[in-house]
Amino acid sequence: EQLDVVDVVIIGAGPSGAIAASLLHKAGKRVLVLERQHFPRFSIGESLLPCCMNFIEEAGMLEAVNAAGFQFKNGAAFRRNGTYTTFDFTDKFTPGHGTTFQVQRGNFDKLLADTAEAQGVEIRYGHTVERIDISGKPSLFVSTESGESYQVDAEFMLDASGFGRVLPRLLDLERPSNLPSRMAIFTHVEDNISDANFDRNKILISVHPEHKDIWYWLIPFSNGRCSLGVVAEPHLLARLDGSLEDKLLQVVREEPGLKALLKDAVVVQQCAELKGYSANVSQLASDKYALLGNAGEFLDPVFSSGVTIAMQSASLAARTLLKQLNGETVDWQRDYAEPLMTGVNCFRTYVQAWYDGTFQEVIFFENPNPTIKQMICSILAGYAWDTENPFVKESQRRLNMVVELCREAKA
Ligand code: FAD
Repeated sequence: EQLDVVDVVIIGAGPSGAIAASLLHKAGKRVLVLERQHFPRFSIGESLLPCCMNFIEEAGMLEAVNAAGFQFKNGAAFRRNGTYTTFDFTDKFTPGHGTTFQVQRGNFDKLLADTAEAQGVEIRYGHTVERIDISGKPSLFVSTESGESYQVDAEFMLDASGFGRVLPRLLDLERPSNLPSRMAIFTHVEDNISDANFDRNKILISVHPEHKDIWYWLIPFSNGRCSLGVVAEPHLLARLDGSLEDKLLQVVREEPGLKALLKDAVVVQQCAELKGYSANVSQLASDKYALLGNAGEFLDPVFSSGVTIAMQSASLAARTLLKQLNGETVDWQRDYAEPLMTGVNCFRTYVQAWYDGTFQEVIFFENPNPTIKQMICSILAGYAWDTENPFVKESQRRLNMVVELCREAKA
């Protein structure tokens, strides 16, 4: 039976797997990526944040991404009851890239994976990781589409399997998220938007006029289409009937701004739904494995932080792993999990404040202080690991202060 021996085996060729593979290969390590599907494959998560361009650059993929013709993105727009406000990501506190793209993830993920392959990384498509053994050095048991199976032995394994959550399942690391369970219904539309004021360079987040915790995303692509989705706790959508498409279009029509914008839109992809996607784990890493991206913790889609967290985790894990493989002592909790959680917890503060309504008060406040806005803008642009930013370092206390300031100014 076949046995492969490598330095690092990576489960999954999505953004976290491709970036980690590239960085480790560049440092001279033998890397093998095992990917269950064939690319391009659909994935949700189409609006990127500027911060992730730093990791794309670190992996030597910036030129390829810039040349691919994706929709340019320079910020986020929010609308609630007719009030429209924007964040310009180039006007931010933290240095670094200030623009990014809105991408069809099938194409984007394939581009990253192909670029990693062109750099010399080996990716095996149609290969599924079924079982593992970590009693000694990690061993993985892999099945192929043609019904064969084989073993891979490695010094270390990275789980970049996203919602596949391979190691959390196999090692019993799954823990419930502390966020309430929500669902998303989504599709792609040929948008036919004629409103000249519509800004295709920004994701548009709209809030339901009656339920402030129901929100919609509209993510324009460069081909005249948009990704359209709604997110809510399931009981708030239980009143809708018909097919998924009927439900989505019905709830979209409840928001007058979106209804007007999408009056000529045509659905061009089968509607899909995802439920209970928020997830957590008891442990993010040990001296034998690390969980990247969605295989670790997933919060919520509202601030489009998923791919950025995935790439940040890939970069941090690669750095820590290179030290370990070069014989230095590392502490995965201190060197990987804690720094990663700085940004994840900062996003968590904002996600919770979005749903309890307090961050919406800040977003829709008419006269924001420009310095405070730049610091919050940094976080929305993905720079949630910049501890020079007081809104990162003390995210909850600072946000509470701004909420108070907005309330006092309005009183
Ligand atoms: P993935 O991209 O999911 O890649 C995992 C890969 O692992 C897959 O290709 C899979 O086939 C493979 N795999 C799984 N199991 C196995 C196995 N056993 N063996 C081999 N291979 C395996 N993020 C954003 O940045 N912007 C957004 O606008 C956004 N919107 C979202 C909206 C919703 C409703 C949801 C739920 C999420 C959203 N996200 C968004 C989050 C985003 O989808 C993820 O964070 C991101 O895709 C994570 O990337 P990844 O590399 O961790 O995993």
